[in-house]
Amino acid sequence: MINSTQNSAQFLEKSLHEKFVFYGKNAKEWMRKCVLLLPEINRLRIWEKKGFGSIYEYAAKLAGMSRNSVDEALRILRKVEDKPELRWVIDKKGINAIKPIIAIATQETANFWAEKAMEMSKNTLEVYVKEFKKAHMEEKNNESKFLPRKEFDAVPQAQNISMELDPEIANQLQKLKGQGNWNELMQKLLQAYQAQVEAKKPIPQENAKRYVPAKIEKYVLAKTNSTCAFPGCTKEYKYLHHTWRFALTKTHDPDSLIPLCKAHERMAHAGLIKNENQPPENWGIKLEADKTSEKWLKVDRWVAKHRESL
Ligand SMILES: [Zn+2]
Repeated sequence: MINSTQNSAQFLEKSLHEKFVFYGKNAKEWMRKCVLLLPEINRLRIWEKKGFGSIYEYAAKLAGMSRNSVDEALRILRKVEDKPELRWVIDKKGINAIKPIIAIATQETANFWAEKAMEMSKNTLEVYVKEFKKAHMEEKNNESKFLPRKEFDAVPQAQNISMELDPEIANQLQKLKGQGNWNELMQKLLQAYQAQVEAKKPIPQENAKRYVPAKIEKYVLAKTNSTCAFPGCTKEYKYLHHTWRFALTKTHDPDSLIPLCKAHERMAHAGLIKNENQPPENWGIKLEADKTSEKWLKVDRWVAKHRESL
């Protein structure tokens, strides 16, 4: 008796939830369609002809839109007037999905950015745009030096890092540096740290289960102190990423397990990381996913799909 009551309560909850999800999804879709019509309705002043005091009143009464969302829709749609590819993304994913690329997309690159906006979350797209700008700037700098690339690479600019230290530690470091320079000392310390980490490097685990053994995890995280390994990223890691996809290798190899933040892990699975099978120091972003390694992409697509359904 108790069981059947429980069952029917569970059934009711499940069906209520499913209905809500279904209606919500449809509501969002219809709202996106309303948003896309706004500029034209505003331009032809249709709201006035229909007896409304303003476009805001029209949108509020007929579609429940707030003043802010009307302003934002008009502002953003003005910027994509000449970019039908981005309007298409708005129709599929909404205004928010293209916000990170509004300033960077041109008529010529709209197609490229629309594709990225479709396959990435807003957060991942923001990080990608940041890397993209950085890569673009570096390219420009290199060109303007009028030096062959190799030569330019050989003289990277020194960087200043300031840090707060306990007086005692500062003193000890000064002593260690002695008459030498900071660069040499830091290099020595780095090498000593790396040697210590490497000495404890575990052997790869083959025919493994999904779960990464504690020993391997500890080794991998020590290399970046639990920070994302993508060059320049200072976020805390969220995933241990297999650069050789685990689903295919069934191996946890300490050399190809890399701690990554959420955005960089998503980029890796979208096939957008350059030199992914080399150490992360050599990584960069790719403009196009590598369509030739179809075998890997199949796994990535599966991972992406699997995530969506979570
Ligand atoms: Zn990162």
